[in-house]
Amino acid sequence: MKSIIFIAPPAAGKGTQSMYICEKYNLTHISTGDLLREEVKSGNEFGKQIQEIMESGSLVSDDIILKLLTNKLDEIKNGYVLDGFPRNVSQAKEYDKILENINQKLNYVIYLNLPKELAKKRITGRISCPNCGNVYNEEIEESKPLINNICDKCHTSLVKRKDDNEETFEKRYETYINETEPLVEYYKNQGNLFIIDSTLPKEEISKQIENIIND
Ligand code: AMP
Repeated sequence: MKSIIFIAPPAAGKGTQSMYICEKYNLTHISTGDLLREEVKSGNEFGKQIQEIMESGSLVSDDIILKLLTNKLDEIKNGYVLDGFPRNVSQAKEYDKILENINQKLNYVIYLNLPKELAKKRITGRISCPNCGNVYNEEIEESKPLINNICDKCHTSLVKRKDDNEETFEKRYETYINETEPLVEYYKNQGNLFIIDSTLPKEEISKQIENIIND
C-alpha cells in the first residue's frame, strides 16, 4: 500500500498535485483541510469552533485532526495521499505510531518549496471548484478558468476560500514556518524526503513526482 505525504507552504500546489497523483495511481486523496471544511459546513457548534481557528490561520488541535484522520484511514483499502497532514512534528510522531501499529511504512515525503512572495500572490487570486476541487487563479493568466468563474472540468461556479486573503495568509505562512517546515528536517533524517521546486509549471512538478513514485 503506497502512502505519500506533502510538506508545502500555503498555495504551493499540494492540493492540485495530490489530486493529480491520486487519479493517476488510483490512490485515495485525504485532505485534512477538506475534512475540516466538511465539519464547518455542517454548521454545528464544533464546526463553528473549527471555522474560527481556520480563519485565524492557526492549526486545529492535534486531537481533532488525529480523530478525523484515523476514522478516514480505517475506511481505506488502497494506497493514499495525505494532503495537509502532518502539519507539525507531534502529528508526524503520532502518525509514525499509527503506521507502526498497522505494520505499514510511509513511502514518500514530497516537499514543495515555494518563496513567500509567490505563495502570497497565488493565494490572493485562488478560486476553486466546490464540486471537483480543481484550483484556478484569477490573477495568473495561465491559471484562469476558460470562462470567468466557472470550472473548466465540471462547469460548477467557482468559490474563494475564506482563509485565502492577505491577512490570514500572513498568519498561515508564519504557522507554516514555525510548525510545519521543521518536518523537512524530521523526514530528512528518516531518509524518505524528496524536494521539488514549486515555482515550476504544475505539469513539470507532476512529472517530477511521477519519476519519484515510479523509481
Ligand atoms: P489546507 O486546506 O490544508 O490549507 O488547511 C486549511 C486550514 O485547516 C489550515 O490553515 C489549518 O487551520 C487547518 N488544518 C488543515 N490540516 C491540518 C492539520 N493537519 N493540523 C492542524 N490544522 C490543520
